[in-house]
Amino acid sequence: MVKVRFAPSPTGFLHLGSARTALFNWLYARHTGGKFLLRIEDTDKARSSKKFLDEILEDLKWMGIDWDDEPLHQSQRFEVYREKAEQILAKEKAYKEGEAIIFKVEKGRTIEVNDIIHGKIAVNTNDIKDQVMIKSDGSPTYNFACVVDDAYMEITHILRGDDHISNTPKQILFYEALELTPPKFGHMPLILGQDGAKLSKRHGGVSVEEYKREGFLPEALANYLILLGWFPGEDHEVLSMDEAVKLFDISDMSDVQAKFDIQKLRWLNGEYIMKKTTEKLLPLIKEQLLTAGFDMSGVTDDYISKLVDLYKIRIKTLRELGELADWFFKDDFTMDEEGKRKYLDKEENKDNIRIFVDRLDGLEDFSHENIEKICRDIAEERELKAADIIHPTRLAISGKTKGAGLFEVMELLGKEKVIKRMRGVDK
Ligand code: GLU
Repeated sequence: MVKVRFAPSPTGFLHLGSARTALFNWLYARHTGGKFLLRIEDTDKARSSKKFLDEILEDLKWMGIDWDDEPLHQSQRFEVYREKAEQILAKEKAYKEGEAIIFKVEKGRTIEVNDIIHGKIAVNTNDIKDQVMIKSDGSPTYNFACVVDDAYMEITHILRGDDHISNTPKQILFYEALELTPPKFGHMPLILGQDGAKLSKRHGGVSVEEYKREGFLPEALANYLILLGWFPGEDHEVLSMDEAVKLFDISDMSDVQAKFDIQKLRWLNGEYIMKKTTEKLLPLIKEQLLTAGFDMSGVTDDYISKLVDLYKIRIKTLRELGELADWFFKDDFTMDEEGKRKYLDKEENKDNIRIFVDRLDGLEDFSHENIEKICRDIAEERELKAADIIHPTRLAISGKTKGAGLFEVMELLGKEKVIKRMRGVDK
């Protein structure tokens, strides 16, 4: 049975690269009916924290990743690591330096790894220094604890980032010393920014949590991360986790550098937002709006749902709704200054707005059909295009040059506010 693991160090937020590692291990386990295990690499007690661990587990769950069995905590296994190191010491394959136990690397050998993703990798042991197993403070090194635990957990495949490629030959030496068969290894190329540099904040963020806050949906982020390591085919770019589990083939994993493309992620996110029901989007959007500081008192779910209906085909992140529709929640919405100069500062446009608002004032049933009829009548009477009235009016009531259909928006905003804002143009 396939047994894989994800081994986060709880010393920071879940990095996108780690999230991708977790996803692929999970996909492989679920595709093969194997096990996906968690190991918490908290040997550095000073830098590890419960807060980070909780956040990492939370982010994994958020992305739809579940795990089998209770996570293993390395901080609780220091005795085991010491015992194993002493076994190697007893075989005279290691020596002590004070309290530290150090593995003696035999020179002149070639260690070969048949990497699942990169193919054959060979390293000469002349290039490997003697390896600390237990440090003088009694804690194990990453490489040693990793091997002891991967063997204990009966891990069959290790999928991790390229940053660990140089650790693999060292780990193989430990498997030999402990007389254990190593698992199979696969190293995924690191995620880089479009400019080829290490992924950083300026590429759009490095942690899952940042994307969550920005209003990306977990389905979209997971889908995108999957595409950064595996190409499921042209027609399969938008794929759910269920589909990915079905289609996944470890031998199709990519060995080319993955370039993070925020525009593609935004596009995917837009696709998922568009497909999601308004009912499901509602609580997520409300949370975003509250975080953005909008005054939501007196705003009903029904109103927000209508707004979501109008805007969900236009937004790429949940946060964007608040930016595009600030006029819905407050009177001091941001005004597009260029649009204002173009449409609102002209006398003839102000005239049209005046005529429009006077007729709207007398309208009993403030429905978008009725509003539209008035607009089109005025356009005809004055030999204008409807757009000549629509653009300035949109600016007046929302401060934007673009948005959802104006008449629907007006109906939703309500007669009182619409009239007040349109009259405000004259002031
Ligand atoms: N704690 C290591 C990391 O987060 C795990 C590496 C491994 O998967 O072996 O990079």
